[in-house]
Amino acid sequence: MRELLDEANEVLQSYFGLCPSLRSFDRLCNVRSGVISFSDFADGFYDVSNHKAYVSDAPSLFHEFHGHALFFEHSMIGKRVAELISNGNISSAVFDKTLLFVEGHAIWTSAFLLDKLGLDDIFTVYEKSLCERNVIFSDGRTLNYQEIYDVMKKAENFYGMHDLWWRVFGFPRKLSKEVLENLVRNLPGLSEKIILAVVFGSRKEYSDVDLCIVVNEKKDFDCLSFRGIIDLAVYDLEEFLAKARLFDVGVTEPILTGDFILGDKNLYERIRQDLSNDVPSREAVEYLRRTSKLLFENASAAKRSGMEEIYLETLAYSISYRLFANAYERGCKSLTFKELCDPELDNVRRKLSNLKRLSLDSLVSSLFIS
Ligand SMILES: [Zn+2]
Repeated sequence: MRELLDEANEVLQSYFGLCPSLRSFDRLCNVRSGVISFSDFADGFYDVSNHKAYVSDAPSLFHEFHGHALFFEHSMIGKRVAELISNGNISSAVFDKTLLFVEGHAIWTSAFLLDKLGLDDIFTVYEKSLCERNVIFSDGRTLNYQEIYDVMKKAENFYGMHDLWWRVFGFPRKLSKEVLENLVRNLPGLSEKIILAVVFGSRKEYSDVDLCIVVNEKKDFDCLSFRGIIDLAVYDLEEFLAKARLFDVGVTEPILTGDFILGDKNLYERIRQDLSNDVPSREAVEYLRRTSKLLFENASAAKRSGMEEIYLETLAYSISYRLFANAYERGCKSLTFKELCDPELDNVRRKLSNLKRLSLDSLVSSLFIS
Protein backbone atom coordinates (compact mmCIF):
# COMPACT_ATOMS: atom_id res chain seq x y z
CA MET A 1 0.00 0.00 0.00
CA ARG A 2 2.82 2.41 0.86
CA GLU A 3 4.38 1.93 -2.55
CA LEU A 4 1.09 2.73 -4.23
CA LEU A 5 0.69 5.80 -2.05
CA ASP A 6 4.11 7.11 -3.13
CA GLU A 7 3.48 6.40 -6.81
CA ALA A 8 0.15 8.22 -6.69
CA ASN A 9 1.82 11.16 -4.89
CA GLU A 10 4.36 11.38 -7.70
CA VAL A 11 1.63 11.47 -10.34
CA LEU A 12 -0.23 14.23 -8.51
CA GLN A 13 2.99 16.20 -8.01
CA SER A 14 3.84 16.04 -11.69
CA TYR A 15 0.34 17.01 -12.86
CA PHE A 16 -0.79 19.47 -10.19
CA GLY A 17 2.27 20.20 -8.00
CA LEU A 18 0.49 18.92 -4.89
CA CYS A 19 0.10 15.81 -2.76
CA PRO A 20 -1.47 15.18 0.65
CA SER A 21 0.62 15.17 3.80
CA LEU A 22 1.55 11.78 5.24
CA ARG A 23 0.18 12.87 8.60
CA SER A 24 -3.28 12.48 7.06
CA PHE A 25 -2.78 8.83 6.23
CA ASP A 26 -3.90 5.87 8.32
CA ARG A 27 -4.79 2.27 7.72
CA LEU A 28 -8.38 1.36 8.45
CA CYS A 29 -9.13 0.53 12.07
CA ASN A 30 -12.21 0.67 14.27
CA VAL A 31 -12.36 4.32 15.16
CA ARG A 32 -15.53 5.03 13.35
CA SER A 33 -18.08 6.05 15.93
CA GLY A 34 -18.84 9.72 16.47
CA VAL A 35 -16.63 11.21 13.75
CA ILE A 36 -17.83 13.51 11.00
CA SER A 37 -16.67 11.59 8.01
CA PHE A 38 -17.11 11.23 4.30
CA SER A 39 -17.80 7.53 4.61
CA ASP A 40 -19.15 6.78 1.18
CA PHE A 41 -16.86 3.83 0.56
CA ALA A 42 -17.49 1.03 3.04
CA ASP A 43 -13.79 0.22 2.92
CA GLY A 44 -12.47 3.63 3.93
CA PHE A 45 -13.43 7.07 5.17
CA TYR A 46 -12.08 10.52 5.83
CA ASP A 47 -12.40 12.08 9.29
CA VAL A 48 -12.50 15.83 8.67
CA SER A 49 -12.08 17.09 12.25
CA ASN A 50 -9.08 14.83 12.80
CA HIS A 51 -7.69 15.32 9.24
CA LYS A 52 -7.17 11.62 8.73
CA ALA A 53 -7.92 9.30 5.84
CA TYR A 54 -8.61 5.71 6.88
CA VAL A 55 -8.11 3.39 3.95
CA SER A 56 -7.92 -0.31 3.16
CA ASP A 57 -7.26 -0.75 -0.57
CA ALA A 58 -6.35 1.12 -3.77
CA PRO A 59 -9.69 2.79 -4.55
CA SER A 60 -10.20 3.83 -0.93
CA LEU A 61 -6.59 5.08 -0.71
CA PHE A 62 -7.09 7.26 -3.80
CA HIS A 63 -10.56 8.40 -2.75
CA GLU A 64 -9.99 9.17 0.93
CA PHE A 65 -6.29 10.14 0.96
CA HIS A 66 -5.42 11.50 -2.49
CA GLY A 67 -8.98 12.78 -2.87
CA HIS A 68 -10.40 14.04 0.43
CA ALA A 69 -7.19 14.58 2.46
CA LEU A 70 -5.60 16.56 -0.37
CA PHE A 71 -8.80 18.57 -0.88
CA PHE A 72 -9.11 19.58 2.79
CA GLU A 73 -5.42 20.41 3.07
CA HIS A 74 -4.96 22.47 -0.09
CA SER A 75 -8.16 23.56 -1.85
CA MET A 76 -9.54 26.98 -0.97
CA ILE A 77 -13.01 25.44 -0.58
CA GLY A 78 -11.72 22.45 1.40
CA LYS A 79 -9.70 24.54 3.85
CA ARG A 80 -12.72 26.75 4.55
CA VAL A 81 -15.00 23.74 5.17
CA ALA A 82 -12.42 22.07 7.42
CA GLU A 83 -12.22 25.29 9.43
CA LEU A 84 -16.02 25.50 9.82
CA ILE A 85 -16.19 21.85 10.86
CA SER A 86 -13.43 22.16 13.45
CA ASN A 87 -15.11 25.28 14.87
CA GLY A 88 -18.30 23.26 15.09
CA ASN A 89 -20.37 25.70 13.07
CA ILE A 90 -20.98 24.18 9.69
CA SER A 91 -24.63 24.34 8.68
CA SER A 92 -26.26 21.57 6.71
CA ALA A 93 -26.86 24.00 3.83
CA VAL A 94 -23.14 24.79 3.55
CA PHE A 95 -22.26 21.14 3.94
CA ASP A 96 -24.64 20.25 1.10
CA LYS A 97 -23.29 22.95 -1.20
CA THR A 98 -19.71 21.81 -0.83
CA LEU A 99 -20.45 18.09 -0.93
CA LEU A 100 -20.47 18.05 -4.73
CA PHE A 101 -17.00 19.58 -4.92
CA VAL A 102 -15.64 17.33 -2.18
CA GLU A 103 -16.97 14.12 -3.70
CA GLY A 104 -16.54 15.25 -7.30
CA HIS A 105 -12.84 15.78 -6.64
CA ALA A 106 -12.36 12.40 -4.92
CA ILE A 107 -14.31 10.48 -7.58
CA TRP A 108 -12.43 12.16 -10.44
CA THR A 109 -9.02 11.79 -8.77
CA SER A 110 -9.51 8.08 -8.04
CA ALA A 111 -10.33 7.39 -11.68
CA PHE A 112 -7.40 9.57 -12.81
CA LEU A 113 -4.89 7.75 -10.59
CA LEU A 114 -6.17 4.27 -11.42
CA ASP A 115 -5.72 5.17 -15.08
CA LYS A 116 -2.29 6.83 -14.75
CA LEU A 117 -0.92 3.98 -12.63
CA GLY A 118 -2.21 1.41 -15.12
CA LEU A 119 -4.43 -0.39 -12.60
CA ASP A 120 -6.84 -1.41 -15.35
CA ASP A 121 -8.62 -4.25 -13.55
CA ILE A 122 -9.40 -2.13 -10.52
CA PHE A 123 -10.41 0.72 -12.83
CA THR A 124 -13.03 -1.46 -14.54
CA VAL A 125 -14.50 -2.53 -11.20
CA TYR A 126 -14.36 1.07 -9.93
CA GLU A 127 -16.20 2.45 -12.98
CA LYS A 128 -18.92 -0.18 -12.63
CA SER A 129 -19.33 0.55 -8.92
CA LEU A 130 -19.95 4.29 -9.47
CA CYS A 131 -23.62 3.88 -10.30
CA GLU A 132 -24.18 1.85 -7.14
CA ARG A 133 -22.97 4.64 -4.84
CA ASN A 134 -24.71 7.81 -3.82
CA VAL A 135 -23.91 11.10 -2.18
CA ILE A 136 -26.50 11.73 0.53
CA PHE A 137 -27.50 15.31 1.32
CA SER A 138 -28.66 16.41 4.74
CA ASP A 139 -32.32 16.43 3.71
CA GLY A 140 -32.06 12.85 2.49
CA ARG A 141 -31.82 13.61 -1.24
CA THR A 142 -29.25 11.52 -3.06
CA LEU A 143 -27.08 11.99 -6.12
CA ASN A 144 -25.44 9.15 -7.95
CA TYR A 145 -21.64 8.97 -8.14
CA GLN A 146 -21.87 8.23 -11.85
CA GLU A 147 -23.82 11.46 -12.45
CA ILE A 148 -21.22 13.48 -10.54
CA TYR A 149 -18.36 11.81 -12.42
CA ASP A 150 -20.06 12.54 -15.78
CA VAL A 151 -20.28 16.25 -14.94
CA MET A 152 -16.59 16.36 -13.96
CA LYS A 153 -15.56 14.54 -17.16
CA LYS A 154 -17.59 16.94 -19.26
CA ALA A 155 -15.79 19.93 -17.68
CA GLU A 156 -12.45 18.17 -18.17
CA ASN A 157 -13.14 17.40 -21.83
CA PHE A 158 -14.02 21.01 -22.55
CA TYR A 159 -11.50 23.02 -20.53
CA GLY A 160 -8.88 20.45 -19.55
CA MET A 161 -8.07 18.77 -16.25
CA HIS A 162 -6.10 21.72 -14.87
CA ASP A 163 -8.97 24.13 -15.24
CA LEU A 164 -11.13 21.54 -13.43
CA TRP A 165 -8.66 21.46 -10.54
CA TRP A 166 -8.20 25.19 -10.32
CA ARG A 167 -11.60 26.63 -11.11
CA VAL A 168 -14.00 23.91 -9.97
CA PHE A 169 -12.07 22.34 -7.10
CA GLY A 170 -10.38 25.57 -5.93
CA PHE A 171 -6.74 24.43 -5.83
CA PRO A 172 -3.79 26.87 -5.98
CA ARG A 173 -1.81 27.01 -9.23
CA LYS A 174 1.55 25.33 -8.52
CA LEU A 175 3.33 26.01 -11.78
CA SER A 176 6.45 23.86 -11.84
CA LYS A 177 8.00 23.09 -15.23
CA GLU A 178 6.55 19.58 -15.04
CA VAL A 179 3.05 20.82 -14.19
CA LEU A 180 3.16 23.31 -17.08
CA GLU A 181 4.28 20.63 -19.52
CA ASN A 182 1.42 18.38 -18.42
CA LEU A 183 -1.01 21.28 -18.61
CA VAL A 184 -0.04 22.10 -22.20
CA ARG A 185 0.02 18.44 -23.29
CA ASN A 186 -3.53 18.01 -22.01
CA LEU A 187 -5.18 21.11 -23.48
CA PRO A 188 -8.30 19.85 -25.27
CA GLY A 189 -8.17 20.32 -29.03
CA LEU A 190 -4.58 21.60 -29.20
CA SER A 191 -2.10 19.19 -27.72
CA GLU A 192 -1.11 17.43 -30.95
CA LYS A 193 -0.52 20.59 -32.95
CA ILE A 194 1.72 22.60 -30.64
CA ILE A 195 4.92 24.12 -32.04
CA LEU A 196 5.70 26.35 -29.07
CA ALA A 197 4.22 26.98 -25.60
CA VAL A 198 5.20 29.84 -23.29
CA VAL A 199 3.87 30.85 -19.87
CA PHE A 200 3.80 34.50 -18.83
CA GLY A 201 1.86 36.88 -16.58
CA SER A 202 1.77 37.06 -12.79
CA ARG A 203 1.95 33.29 -12.07
CA LYS A 204 0.42 33.72 -8.60
CA GLU A 205 -1.32 30.86 -6.77
CA TYR A 206 -4.81 32.23 -7.31
CA SER A 207 -4.41 34.17 -10.57
CA ASP A 208 -5.18 33.28 -14.15
CA VAL A 209 -2.54 31.27 -15.96
CA ASP A 210 -1.49 33.07 -19.17
CA LEU A 211 -0.27 30.88 -22.00
CA CYS A 212 0.94 31.77 -25.48
CA ILE A 213 0.64 28.80 -27.82
CA VAL A 214 1.84 28.48 -31.40
CA VAL A 215 0.25 25.66 -33.38
CA ASN A 216 0.68 24.37 -36.89
CA GLU A 217 -3.06 24.43 -37.47
CA LYS A 218 -5.60 26.55 -35.61
CA LYS A 219 -8.66 25.77 -37.71
CA ASP A 220 -11.57 25.17 -35.31
CA PHE A 221 -10.05 26.43 -32.12
CA ASP A 222 -11.88 29.36 -30.54
CA CYS A 223 -9.91 31.12 -27.81
CA LEU A 224 -12.90 33.17 -26.73
CA SER A 225 -14.99 30.16 -25.85
CA PHE A 226 -12.06 28.97 -23.75
CA ARG A 227 -12.30 31.50 -20.96
CA GLY A 228 -11.50 29.85 -17.68
CA ILE A 229 -8.57 30.14 -15.32
CA ILE A 230 -6.32 29.39 -18.26
CA ASP A 231 -6.02 32.43 -20.50
CA LEU A 232 -4.97 31.24 -23.95
CA ALA A 233 -3.50 33.18 -26.83
CA VAL A 234 -3.26 30.74 -29.74
CA TYR A 235 -1.55 31.60 -33.04
CA ASP A 236 -0.66 29.58 -36.07
CA LEU A 237 2.98 29.87 -37.10
CA GLU A 238 2.41 32.36 -39.91
CA GLU A 239 0.30 34.60 -37.68
CA PHE A 240 2.84 34.40 -34.86
CA LEU A 241 5.76 35.41 -37.11
CA ALA A 242 3.76 38.26 -38.65
CA LYS A 243 2.78 39.58 -35.21
CA ALA A 244 6.38 39.33 -34.03
CA ARG A 245 7.51 41.41 -37.02
CA LEU A 246 4.89 44.04 -36.14
CA PHE A 247 5.82 44.05 -32.42
CA ASP A 248 2.29 43.05 -31.48
CA VAL A 249 2.07 42.92 -27.69
CA GLY A 250 0.32 39.53 -27.97
CA VAL A 251 3.72 38.18 -29.02
CA THR A 252 6.23 40.62 -27.47
CA GLU A 253 4.88 40.27 -23.94
CA PRO A 254 4.96 36.43 -23.68
CA ILE A 255 8.26 36.13 -25.55
CA LEU A 256 10.10 38.88 -23.66
CA THR A 257 8.70 38.29 -20.16
CA GLY A 258 7.64 34.63 -20.21
CA ASP A 259 9.23 31.21 -19.81
CA PHE A 260 9.57 28.51 -22.43
CA ILE A 261 7.49 25.42 -21.58
CA LEU A 262 7.89 23.12 -24.55
CA GLY A 263 8.23 22.98 -28.34
CA ASP A 264 10.75 24.53 -30.70
CA LYS A 265 13.34 26.17 -28.44
CA ASN A 266 15.27 27.55 -31.43
CA LEU A 267 12.23 29.39 -32.70
CA TYR A 268 11.66 30.83 -29.22
CA GLU A 269 15.27 32.00 -28.87
CA ARG A 270 15.37 33.45 -32.38
CA ILE A 271 12.17 35.52 -31.94
CA ARG A 272 13.37 36.64 -28.51
CA GLN A 273 16.66 37.81 -29.99
CA ASP A 274 14.94 39.63 -32.89
CA LEU A 275 12.52 41.40 -30.56
CA SER A 276 15.33 42.50 -28.26
CA ASN A 277 17.64 43.74 -31.05
CA ASP A 278 15.38 45.16 -33.75
CA VAL A 279 13.88 48.63 -33.85
CA PRO A 280 10.15 48.57 -34.66
CA SER A 281 9.40 49.70 -38.23
CA ARG A 282 7.07 52.44 -39.43
CA GLU A 283 4.70 49.69 -40.53
CA ALA A 284 4.68 48.29 -36.95
CA VAL A 285 3.83 51.69 -35.47
CA GLU A 286 0.92 52.13 -37.89
CA TYR A 287 -0.31 48.61 -37.19
CA LEU A 288 -0.26 49.20 -33.40
CA ARG A 289 -2.22 52.43 -33.82
CA ARG A 290 -4.84 50.73 -36.01
CA THR A 291 -5.16 47.89 -33.49
CA SER A 292 -5.57 50.37 -30.64
CA LYS A 293 -8.47 52.05 -32.46
CA LEU A 294 -10.12 48.74 -33.25
CA LEU A 295 -9.81 47.62 -29.63
CA PHE A 296 -11.30 50.89 -28.45
CA GLU A 297 -14.37 50.24 -30.61
CA ASN A 298 -14.62 46.71 -29.19
CA ALA A 299 -14.29 48.04 -25.65
CA SER A 300 -17.10 50.55 -26.25
CA ALA A 301 -19.33 47.78 -27.60
CA ALA A 302 -18.60 45.64 -24.52
CA LYS A 303 -19.48 48.57 -22.26
CA ARG A 304 -22.77 49.11 -24.07
CA SER A 305 -23.59 45.42 -23.52
CA GLY A 306 -22.81 45.70 -19.82
CA MET A 307 -19.78 43.37 -19.96
CA GLU A 308 -17.68 45.29 -17.46
CA GLU A 309 -14.71 42.91 -17.21
CA ILE A 310 -14.32 42.53 -20.99
CA TYR A 311 -14.76 46.30 -21.35
CA LEU A 312 -11.93 47.08 -18.91
CA GLU A 313 -9.65 44.35 -20.28
CA THR A 314 -10.12 45.52 -23.88
CA LEU A 315 -9.76 49.18 -22.92
CA ALA A 316 -6.47 48.42 -21.12
CA TYR A 317 -5.22 46.73 -24.30
CA SER A 318 -6.38 49.62 -26.47
CA ILE A 319 -4.50 52.14 -24.32
CA SER A 320 -1.42 49.88 -24.22
CA TYR A 321 -1.28 49.51 -28.00
CA ARG A 322 -1.46 53.30 -28.32
CA LEU A 323 1.34 53.79 -25.77
CA PHE A 324 3.52 51.19 -27.49
CA ALA A 325 2.96 52.94 -30.84
CA ASN A 326 3.92 56.30 -29.32
CA ALA A 327 7.07 54.92 -27.71
CA TYR A 328 8.19 53.05 -30.83
CA GLU A 329 7.57 56.15 -32.93
CA ARG A 330 9.99 57.98 -30.63
CA GLY A 331 12.56 55.29 -31.44
CA CYS A 332 12.29 53.03 -28.36
CA LYS A 333 13.22 49.38 -28.68
CA SER A 334 10.74 46.65 -27.62
CA LEU A 335 8.89 47.37 -24.39
CA THR A 336 6.85 45.27 -21.98
CA PHE A 337 3.63 46.07 -20.11
CA LYS A 338 5.55 46.76 -16.92
CA GLU A 339 7.52 49.52 -18.63
CA LEU A 340 4.40 51.39 -19.71
CA CYS A 341 3.69 54.20 -17.34
CA ASP A 342 0.46 56.11 -17.80
CA PRO A 343 -2.12 57.36 -15.26
CA GLU A 344 -5.10 56.43 -17.47
CA LEU A 345 -3.80 52.89 -17.94
CA ASP A 346 -3.04 52.53 -14.20
CA ASN A 347 -6.58 53.58 -13.40
CA VAL A 348 -8.13 50.99 -15.75
CA ARG A 349 -5.82 48.27 -14.45
CA ARG A 350 -6.75 49.08 -10.83
CA LYS A 351 -10.47 48.86 -11.63
CA LEU A 352 -9.90 45.56 -13.44
CA SER A 353 -7.98 43.93 -10.60
CA ASN A 354 -10.62 45.07 -8.05
CA LEU A 355 -13.33 43.58 -10.23
CA LYS A 356 -11.45 40.28 -10.54
CA ARG A 357 -10.82 40.10 -6.79
CA LEU A 358 -14.50 40.78 -6.18
CA SER A 359 -15.66 38.01 -8.51
CA LEU A 360 -13.31 35.49 -6.87
CA ASP A 361 -14.50 36.47 -3.39
CA SER A 362 -18.14 36.24 -4.34
CA LEU A 363 -17.64 32.85 -5.99
CA VAL A 364 -16.10 31.39 -2.83
CA SER A 365 -18.44 33.13 -0.40
CA SER A 366 -21.52 32.12 -2.39
CA LEU A 367 -20.62 28.55 -1.50
CA PHE A 368 -20.66 29.33 2.19
CA ILE A 369 -23.81 31.39 2.51
CA SER A 370 -26.57 29.24 3.98
ZN1 LIG B 1 -15.93 10.56 -0.47
